[in-house]
Amino acid sequence: MNCMEVHFLGVGEACDSRHGNTSALVTAGGCKILLDCGFSVPHRFFGICKDPDCLEYIWISHFHGDHFFGLPLLLLRFWEMGRTRRLQLIGQERLQEKTMTVLELAYPGFAKKLSFPLQFHSVQPGITLELEQLKFQTTPTTHSQANLGLLLDDGRKRLYYSGDGRPTAEVIRLAHGCDLALHEAFTWEDSIPNHGSVTGCLQLMEKAGIKQLALLHIERKTRQNRQKALVKLLKEHPDVLLPVENDIIHLD
Ligand SMILES: [Zn+2]
Ligand SMILES: [Zn+2]
Repeated sequence: MNCMEVHFLGVGEACDSRHGNTSALVTAGGCKILLDCGFSVPHRFFGICKDPDCLEYIWISHFHGDHFFGLPLLLLRFWEMGRTRRLQLIGQERLQEKTMTVLELAYPGFAKKLSFPLQFHSVQPGITLELEQLKFQTTPTTHSQANLGLLLDDGRKRLYYSGDGRPTAEVIRLAHGCDLALHEAFTWEDSIPNHGSVTGCLQLMEKAGIKQLALLHIERKTRQNRQKALVKLLKEHPDVLLPVENDIIHLD
C-alpha cells in the first residue's frame, strides 16, 4: 500500500533566501505532484530528483512569482535531461496562457523545442477533478491575487495545501477532518488582510478538525523574532509542525 509522502523543497515566503519559496513534492497514489514552483524551487527539486520523467503533475495555486516563476527553469532542465513523458499542470483558469507567457519571457522560442507534451487542467471551485487515483478539489482563499486552496485526496489520505491567503468559511468545509494541512502563516496574528497567520491557522485547525498542521511561508523576520514563541507553541501543540526544507512527512 502506498503511503502519502510530503517532501518540503522550501518553506519560506517570497524573499526568504534561507528557507526558499514554499513548495513540496508530494507522493500520492503512486504519482508525484509538485505543489507550486517559485523562483528557488527548480534548483532544490533537481537536488533530489535525478529522473527527468519522475514528475507527473504540477499544481500552481496562483501566479505570484514565488509560486509560479520557477516553471521555465523546471521545464528547461527537464528538456535538457531528455524528458519525453507528458507533464500535466493543474491550476486555475488561464494557467496555460500564463505558462506560455512566462516561458516565452524567460527563454524565447523554447516552448517550440520542448521534447515532451504539456497538458493543462484548469479547475473550478466546487468541481472535483479526478486524475488516476487522485481527486483535486479547490476553493478560493482571501489573497491579493486569485488563489486556490487545494484538497488532494488519494483515496486513503487527504492533504490540504493553502497556497497563499487567509482561510475562508469554505476552506474550513473543504479541509474538514483532513490528515494534514500545509498552510501559509505569514504573520503571527491576522494583521495583513490577504495573508494567513500562525494564530489564524491554529483556529482553522480547531474549527476544521485538522489532524496535523504544518506552518509554512512565515515572514522571515517574524520567524526570527518569534522563535521562542514558536518553540513554545510546538511544545503545546504536538500536532503542529514547523518543517524546514528537505523535511519529509509520511502519512501512513
Ligand atoms: Zn501570493
Ligand atoms: Zn507567496
